[in-house]
Amino acid sequence: MSDDALGNMLAQMENAEPYADVDAGVFERLKHPERTLKVSLPVERDDGTVEIFEGFRCQFDSARGPFKGGIRYHPTVSMDEVTALAGWMTWKTALVDLPYGGAKGGVACNPKELSDCETEKLTRRYTEGVRRMIGPDMDVPAPDMNTGAREMAWMMDTYSMYGGRVIPDVVTGKPIEVGGTAGRVEATGRGVTITTRRMFEYLGEDLDGATVAVQGFGNVGSVTARLLSSMGANVVAVSDVSGGVHDADGLDVMAIERHVSETGSIAGYTDADGYDDADAITNGDLLRLDVDALIPAAIENVITEDVAEDLRASVVVEAANGPTTFAADGILRERDIPVVPDILANAGGVIVSYLEWVQNSQQYSWDLEQVNDDLETKLARAFDEMLDAYTARDTPDLRTAAYVVALERVGKAHEMRGLFP
Ligand code: GLU
Repeated sequence: MSDDALGNMLAQMENAEPYADVDAGVFERLKHPERTLKVSLPVERDDGTVEIFEGFRCQFDSARGPFKGGIRYHPTVSMDEVTALAGWMTWKTALVDLPYGGAKGGVACNPKELSDCETEKLTRRYTEGVRRMIGPDMDVPAPDMNTGAREMAWMMDTYSMYGGRVIPDVVTGKPIEVGGTAGRVEATGRGVTITTRRMFEYLGEDLDGATVAVQGFGNVGSVTARLLSSMGANVVAVSDVSGGVHDADGLDVMAIERHVSETGSIAGYTDADGYDDADAITNGDLLRLDVDALIPAAIENVITEDVAEDLRASVVVEAANGPTTFAADGILRERDIPVVPDILANAGGVIVSYLEWVQNSQQYSWDLEQVNDDLETKLARAFDEMLDAYTARDTPDLRTAAYVVALERVGKAHEMRGLFP
């Protein structure tokens, strides 16, 4: 599915080029990642056998600052996928105006088949594999799909062991106890909620009572569903890889979160005592529900042309990276269904990563209120800048407008720095 994520990212760039004031030579440079490392990771399994995993780190662009982006553990991870995701990180950090470039890494594996001990060995071996290219002023990894605070603590520990001192700011998304920040776990979901609310305001719609479907119930999807629900939205459907649940009267998101933390997935929730009103729904049907907002929060390329033709939501908010194919995007545009692009909607995670990195460098910690206020200010500014570009450049959609802002920021940085040698 994610094989054409890179094609999608490049097509989005090219689509925005005519609207953006970027020198043609610079634009050509922007299409090529600075470097990508592929590493082989031998890991001893619990049964004593040795398995070799493939890991990657793509550093896409550093014109505006150190590389920044998460590490994902997933069977679809490939050189092309991390490259696409590293490109999106570049446009994301530029759009929300963080002093970073863009990167992404990952290991091709099925994390559900790895024990805790195997995951730790894999994480430490991956860190060793990429340690020469990462560092607080060079490239700062963070969580992504199937990685979290636990993996970041192992990465920070491994890197610090080689450095002979504690180096917390080599990664963000750490546990609070080892230099993490208040608010990082919820940051991406909170950012999705903030951009959804602003989009509703822009459209003149009320979020209170609005129906919402969320595809994906990992860190991002579950927090988004919980926060939207606490703000009065009516979350009518959620799903994960095991399938989904639907209740037109609204779901009890906290109860689903409890079920998932006890059983590991949404499967079986409809049979749980007291929740018989919820019906099972497939991921395909969830994407086609007649709702006020559809929030894909899982993986790339789930909104295909077929889905786009049938889609009945009034607005799509992209919590995942690259959930809409380029062709599907065109169909949604023709059908006048607005899409809040991923590089804005899910930027809350990297914004709070930045705040964590700043706190680490100052050896000072902020309280949750200060973190959340700053997150909201930065996202609101980027939202307005995207809207300004949408109007001033007369772009066909919001994604193109977001790219115009991002491409011009990165392009200007390249022009000012010039071409070495
Ligand atoms: N993995 C997240 C993303 O796709 C966060 C990256 C970061 O915090 O560096 O935006």
